[in-house]
Amino acid sequence: MNINVNLSSLNFFRSLRAENKQFAVIGLGRFGNAVCSTLHSLGYEVLGVDSDEKKVTQALSDRIAAHIVQLDSTEPTALKEAGLFEFDTVIVAIGNYLAASITTTLNLKEGGVTNVIAKASSETHLKILKKVGADHVVFPEREMGYSLARTLTKPSILERFDLDPDHSIVELLVPEKFDGKTIAELELRRKYGLNLLAVGRNDKFEINPQPNERLKQGEAMVVIGSNKDINRLPI
Ligand code: ATP
Repeated sequence: MNINVNLSSLNFFRSLRAENKQFAVIGLGRFGNAVCSTLHSLGYEVLGVDSDEKKVTQALSDRIAAHIVQLDSTEPTALKEAGLFEFDTVIVAIGNYLAASITTTLNLKEGGVTNVIAKASSETHLKILKKVGADHVVFPEREMGYSLARTLTKPSILERFDLDPDHSIVELLVPEKFDGKTIAELELRRKYGLNLLAVGRNDKFEINPQPNERLKQGEAMVVIGSNKDINRLPI
């Protein structure tokens, strides 16, 4: 899995985690359903919302949240009556209904919800959501597309955490060229400008490995540095 975040979104998520226990998810399509049921199974109190009776009935029978209500989120009074404005964090998971997604986001911000996370389904949609006040926007199709392309072109990169557009923490398979060499011999910092954070073998990671440790092809290593430098690795 590749995670696309930058420093501002990282701060956003960090600010959420501290005190947040309750979430509302509006729109129970495939995406909203996954968010809702995962939060629920992790023990959080979740309110699921959808305007479609069938979706609501299905969600109730699947027990994807503690509370599920049927309402039209483009109606501010409906949101207020259902207590949506009392939530700290609301996820707007309406991707295919542009007007409904935008109006809902606007309603939530005007109703005083601190953190509104919205799902975009196009570049324009993303821009509009930000303009109407969404605190964070996710664009899963684009993010997964980036991620797939990176995996296809650099199959030895197992995980990637984007710190900002130019720097990442990357977990990769130890390249053939590094096989049998000690960490000191690799001179990663001098030759590549990279810092080695951990080495993974037998499903465990050793953090800050010793310079005299020998790496083997097929083990995993975690490095931090600029994307340019990471791309210079012999992978
Ligand atoms: P996917 O199923 O691929 O995740 P999606 O997240 O883009 O798709 P949509 O097809 O956009 O999902 O629909 C999400 C849900 O939002 C649907 O179940 C739909 O009934 C619901 N929805 C649409 N408009 C409103 C609205 N005004 N109020 C509440 N729910 C709505």
